[in-house]
Amino acid sequence: MQAQYKTFDLLLKHTFSIANFSRNHTPVVLLKLLYEGCEGFGEASMVPYLGENSETAIDFLNKVDWQNFKFPFDFKEVNAYLDSIAEGNTAVKAAIDIALNDLQGKLVEKPCYALYGAQPSAMPVTSYTLGMDTLSVIKQKLMDAQDFRAIKVKLGSADDKAIIKTIRNITQLPLYVDANQGWLDKERALDLIHWLAEQGVELVEQPMAKLDIEGNAWLTERSPIPIIADESVQRLKNISSIKGAYHGINIKLMKSTGMYEAHQMILEARKLGMKILIGCMSETSCASLAAAALAPLCDWADIDGPWLTQNNPFETPILANGKYQLTQASGLGLSSLKSGFWS
Ligand code: MG
Repeated sequence: MQAQYKTFDLLLKHTFSIANFSRNHTPVVLLKLLYEGCEGFGEASMVPYLGENSETAIDFLNKVDWQNFKFPFDFKEVNAYLDSIAEGNTAVKAAIDIALNDLQGKLVEKPCYALYGAQPSAMPVTSYTLGMDTLSVIKQKLMDAQDFRAIKVKLGSADDKAIIKTIRNITQLPLYVDANQGWLDKERALDLIHWLAEQGVELVEQPMAKLDIEGNAWLTERSPIPIIADESVQRLKNISSIKGAYHGINIKLMKSTGMYEAHQMILEARKLGMKILIGCMSETSCASLAAAALAPLCDWADIDGPWLTQNNPFETPILANGKYQLTQASGLGLSSLKSGFWS
């Protein structure tokens, strides 16, 4: 097996702000694996708060012995091998897992979703995310969201109600709210959640600090709409520690080390009776299509990376009625890379 990789800055269309943080680009590594005449693509999107960057990713990739991977790929073994190289590094591990899944699909001539038993007909709509912005920018961004049938909005400031009212003046689409740990007082948070539920908000992600298990659990017990853990859960092993504190979890491939462990998390969450949102980081079509392959196994999807970025080297995925259209193509179903990418 041969590996080729390249780092680049994935540029956001708009500066993206959440509670206490903002950015306008994300370092990404694109990985291409060549094996028995097939190409598999993978992607690591390294959002700064998870501690990876281009250097750590390249350093990790340089330590991988690609001859270890023999078809048919045993993803449990792949996972254990990558974890044996170093702890953490979840995004670059995801790049390798995604590229091997793409290859596996191409070698057995099946779409990736079929490898995991996902049915395209069960695909949920994917939401379009609005960062924290001035009310006029929010209005503008909603104009970009015409293909979407759900909106996710970042809250966690003094303007929370004004933001929701602005959106509700423009659209009645279902809303998902992500507080990104921005709410500090549980009683005020609960009042706000009741108000949000009346405005047609369907779920609230990470209302309070990730380490405040008790505060989040208190809200979960009382909230009229599902409370979903995001920052509180990264990998499979974290689910047991938040059991009971949330109604569900947000799985992202860049946190879970890719598709194999994300699927394990889906199975574990279902066993515990938890709801599942599948999300993304600032990503190209590569990691987004990998998440979309698992999305039919989840309750909600928030896989809007390709629409929030401006230099995606692949074609943007196709949405119909706000849902990813999964094709019969083998592997991830990616378009060819735009020419000149590797030069
Ligand atoms: Mg979130």
